[in-house]
Amino acid sequence: KEKEDFEIKEVIQNSLAILSGDIKNIEVIVDLTFNTNEHIKIFGIKNELAQVLVAIISNALDAIKTIENRKIEIEISSNTADVILSIKDNGKGIKAKLLDKIFEPYFTTKSSGTGLGLYLSKMIIEKSFKGKLNVKSNPKGTTFYINIEKSV
Ligand code: ADP
Ligand code: MG
Repeated sequence: KEKEDFEIKEVIQNSLAILSGDIKNIEVIVDLTFNTNEHIKIFGIKNELAQVLVAIISNALDAIKTIENRKIEIEISSNTADVILSIKDNGKGIKAKLLDKIFEPYFTTKSSGTGLGLYLSKMIIEKSFKGKLNVKSNPKGTTFYINIEKSV
């Protein structure tokens, strides 16, 4: 559990492997084309980022459970300083007045939810990676954005 430089792509694939059982029959589009021309590395604890991705993708899976043509899109983009990872689902979205609340500890709309996934995710991204975790949502779906400084 040491901080190190690591490739973000590897963590995406690890997280998808962890969730592979739940992801069956769902269209998961992972755009890793950035990797053909650029190796994007960030500095931190790899397992912590994996925990964040598993939490966000699990929420996306919950959000699309009852709809047709379920889809999750994971994309990477980068500028000179930062890498931006987006996780997009085509669920029913989050009501505007709840958008701030979802990052509060124990806030959940699920009968057996802990309400800790996004709270812990935000803590990890902000405190451990000095990055940002943002969300955009509308009735056609939700996208989470993870913004982290590149290490090399
Ligand atoms: P939990 O999943 O245990 O409820 P989280 O902290 O992971 O706790 O999420 C908090 C709440 O945010 C969820 O209960 C849900 O209402 C909302 N939420 C999170 N991600 C999504 C999403 N992708 N689509 C719709 N709602 C979401
Ligand atoms: Mg959750």
